[in-house]
Amino acid sequence: MSHWRKTPLITEMDRRGRIGANPPFADVPHIDPGHWFGCSSLHSGSLPLPSVSEPDVVRHFTELSQKNHGLDSGFYPLGSCTMKYNPKFNEDMAGLAGFSQIHPLQPDGEVQGALRLMYNLGEMLCALTGLDAATLQPAAGAQGESTGLSIIKAYHLSRGDSARTKILVPDSSHGTNPASATLAGFQVVVLPSDTRGCVSPEVVRKAVGSDTAGLMLTNPNTLGLFEPDISEITQIVHGAGGLLYYDGANMNAIMGVTRPGDMGFDIAHINVHKTLSTPHGGGGPGAGPVMVKAHLAPFLPIPVIVKMENGSQSEELNRVEAETLSREGPMESGTMYRRAYDRPQSIGKVKAFYGNFGILVRAYAYMRTMGNTGLHLASKLAVLHANYLRVRLSEAYAIPFPQICMHEFVMSAEKQAAKGVTALVLAKNLMDAGMHPPTVYFPLIVKEAMMVEPTETESLETLDRFADEMLRLSAMAETDADYLMHAPYNMPVNRLDEVGAARKPVLCQCMATGGDEG
Ligand SMILES: *Cc1c(COP(=O)(O)O)cnc(C)c1O
Repeated sequence: MSHWRKTPLITEMDRRGRIGANPPFADVPHIDPGHWFGCSSLHSGSLPLPSVSEPDVVRHFTELSQKNHGLDSGFYPLGSCTMKYNPKFNEDMAGLAGFSQIHPLQPDGEVQGALRLMYNLGEMLCALTGLDAATLQPAAGAQGESTGLSIIKAYHLSRGDSARTKILVPDSSHGTNPASATLAGFQVVVLPSDTRGCVSPEVVRKAVGSDTAGLMLTNPNTLGLFEPDISEITQIVHGAGGLLYYDGANMNAIMGVTRPGDMGFDIAHINVHKTLSTPHGGGGPGAGPVMVKAHLAPFLPIPVIVKMENGSQSEELNRVEAETLSREGPMESGTMYRRAYDRPQSIGKVKAFYGNFGILVRAYAYMRTMGNTGLHLASKLAVLHANYLRVRLSEAYAIPFPQICMHEFVMSAEKQAAKGVTALVLAKNLMDAGMHPPTVYFPLIVKEAMMVEPTETESLETLDRFADEMLRLSAMAETDADYLMHAPYNMPVNRLDEVGAARKPVLCQCMATGGDEG
């Protein structure tokens, strides 16, 4: 039996007259906001909000939060997502008043620290990827992809080449790749993986032509395998006049080992909410900075953050900025950081202001505390941990591409599924064991796929606990499959109707009655 009690809805806790806050009496006349919008009133009657006391609210939301599995509560080997532990120090840094209490419209002279941080983070990300110029604006990996594809388009058009309409994408790619290419107005050409699970130069050679705008690739790929022919592939695409886009969501395997720029890529995004320790998974903000080779820098979104030394270009400062500067003084003598908009070839803005700034502070704090050696070690441990689990689990599970993997690997529950214990059933049973399941049924090219990414932040004991549990479940598939098939037993709710939830979602809650129909 589940040890969770059923949590009432907050509307069911409603007791008229109970109150959680005492707003001060208004000492200004009441004005109906409808007055401004040309109607008599914006609302009719009072809002049907529940009346609850402060402790009721605190306990309600604390209880809900405890029903949620997060990185602070347990192992989270969700492949392709890099759910590593996020040091709390990064949160402290993002919360510093100098970062959290500033406004994006303040003049450059007043926010030199924030601009300097963004400039330096851009430089550090360029060093990490082997590229030359950065934008921090995109809010996520997928938006980084669409920014990069817009840059590819702008580049070809700037050369009067409008025939390049196709983007090559391997069949193992993350779903965002073909989606971003389509959104950017390109046609997607799918490259089949070969028997190694990789992209072969022959396939690329056959696919490229004078209509090729570029190739999008993640390396290590979505099977967790490093593409051995990557240099040849990038040469083939360049030879045909195309550009190379690196989906850097998988950087956690290669920091300080190799760089997209060195492999021949022209553009890369990094999911800082994966690799650079920013919390994600709850739908919260992320960031997908995009780095490019120098010849693509003119196309980056505006504004770009520039560093000016010894007052060079200072005549460009407008009067307000110059006055503010003289009041406050620059941070480093003779050095000033500015937001520059004078980029006539820019693709424009892709996000309000300069991106999700607080997330960028976390990434910066993480990179500075880790240093070069720390980041390199993180990648080496991420790869070691994945290979450790791959070998331990190969005792019972099929590993369709059994070579040395990078930060993640894909196994198949086909043998177990023959007894009814599918990847989905295994996932539900892992939840009972207090662990987040791996990614299941992705990538699509592996049957009963389970994609495991342990990350570097887990201990040997945690890895062993996971491996032991997976092996125990596989053994139980032989003897007691029926029991496993009804899991989870210990979760707040038992087996959900997942098809029903997808086909007939209930998306609203009737607040007035506390009823449960939408
Ligand atoms: C996560 C991921 C993305 C998309 O990143 P979002 O920030 O979720 O938009 C793209 N490609 C790969 C390989 C990923 O793992």
